[in-house]
Amino acid sequence: MDLGPEYARAGDAEFAARYRARCHCGAVRYEASADPVDAKLCHCRDCRVLHGAPMQWAAIFHKRHIRVTRGADALRAYSATRRGESDVPPRKLACARCGTWIADEGRRMWLAFPELFEFGDPPRVPDAFRPTCHIFYGSRVLDIADPLPKWAGHKDVSTRL
Ligand SMILES: [Zn+2]
Ligand SMILES: [Zn+2]
Repeated sequence: MDLGPEYARAGDAEFAARYRARCHCGAVRYEASADPVDAKLCHCRDCRVLHGAPMQWAAIFHKRHIRVTRGADALRAYSATRRGESDVPPRKLACARCGTWIADEGRRMWLAFPELFEFGDPPRVPDAFRPTCHIFYGSRVLDIADPLPKWAGHKDVSTRL
């Protein structure tokens, strides 16, 4: 899959990998050259069903700070809104071999899943990856007792619960 010109390229000398991520089977690997600009926990039903989890943790990067180093051809795309394959963002990208969700690909941004990052064992999560809020908390299946802002829908444009 050709991801498009927004991403960093293999030969880009300016690109210095700061973080590395990989799917479960290792067929898909990528690097990030900067900290995420934000991170959030999403409780919407699409995220819950697609990830088989009570919420989705996403860290948001500019595409220019992302470089897929292996397995771009092993990516498959799915549109949650169209409920089918998609040639264009916004869409979800997965490893076609192991099924791991790689990212939610927006038009400009790459919503990474921090679970794929190599943070060590035991993991030491950098502060920049820590969620700053809960979104679609109105659709939650679990109550979360933390001090983070909780929005009924999208951040800043929905009711704060
Ligand atoms: Zn895989
Ligand atoms: Zn969601």
